[in-house]
Amino acid sequence: MSMIKRFKFGLRAIALTTGLMAGAVSSPALSNELNIYSHRQAFLLNPLLEDFKKQTGTKINIVFASKGLIQRLIAEGPRSPADIILTVDIARLQQYANKDLFAAVSTPVLKANIPAHLRDPKGLWYGLSKRVRVVAVSKARVRPGEIKRIEDLADPKWKGRICTRKGSHVYNRALLASLIAAHGNAAAEKWAKGLVANLARKPQGNDRAQAKAISQGICDVAIMNHYYYFKMKKNKNPAQHKWAKAIRILFTNQGDRGNHVNISGIGLAKHSKNKKLAIKLMEYLSSKHAQSLYAEVNYEYPANTAVHASQEVKVLGQFKADKLPIATIAELAPTAQRIINRVGW
Ligand code: FE
Repeated sequence: MSMIKRFKFGLRAIALTTGLMAGAVSSPALSNELNIYSHRQAFLLNPLLEDFKKQTGTKINIVFASKGLIQRLIAEGPRSPADIILTVDIARLQQYANKDLFAAVSTPVLKANIPAHLRDPKGLWYGLSKRVRVVAVSKARVRPGEIKRIEDLADPKWKGRICTRKGSHVYNRALLASLIAAHGNAAAEKWAKGLVANLARKPQGNDRAQAKAISQGICDVAIMNHYYYFKMKKNKNPAQHKWAKAIRILFTNQGDRGNHVNISGIGLAKHSKNKKLAIKLMEYLSSKHAQSLYAEVNYEYPANTAVHASQEVKVLGQFKADKLPIATIAELAPTAQRIINRVGW
């Protein structure tokens, strides 16, 4: 590739880079180079990408941003240097799919490694890890067995005792979508109304803020993703150890459909100039070796069922996960959002 063309691409990338974004993207089409647009923080990916580089000699550039990457990809159009998109939830994966930004991929390796309910039926995206939306309860104020199902959180018994982040956050929207799938729209709306009626305070903060609120006695019950328990426990800020100590994690719906799970996942950029190599990276990330690394770094559950959870996460014990296709969660997300708006979650 000529210097001039490379220079042009470099300039364009800079022009579209917002203050949120870090990482440089070089020109596309170098045969041993891949560009990843990632909603997942680079430090979580680096050990894996280093390993892939060792195996294949591939140089990988990461553009990380929690927001704005989809707009960037749309603006770049067919000239985008992106090869791979990584997200930390199904909602964003589906947004890329809906905007026709993914190319369908189907290989025997990916199909063998990633269970059918954790991938798009058309091959537009694949789950790489499972994140379990658990209930955190006060060790001191909630007895074991008092909550068995996510449905229980709408019971008036919990009035003034529950904390959550906003309903419109992708994690909660996906959870509500799972309730719609299980019970239908009307029952899911009734549940959401009941939950809101039980809140100890206006929805606010992130998942960890709810554990903090439990430790401060503001509420007794919260909804959060399981890995935050470990992130708090291992945090360099000792205040967070207290938040983790105040709570007990429980899996819901163990006697019926299983606990709701979300995924982090991956898709092949429609305009990737290096699809063959990009697919190789997708296959690598679904492999046993990469999946165990993946599970270690962020305390997530591997999507590949041949791989066990990390030693750390095993303290939570065995649990039954809801096998509802993640694609159904994505389909029901807009309905869930309308319910969230109506009930003021
Ligand atoms: Fe998270």
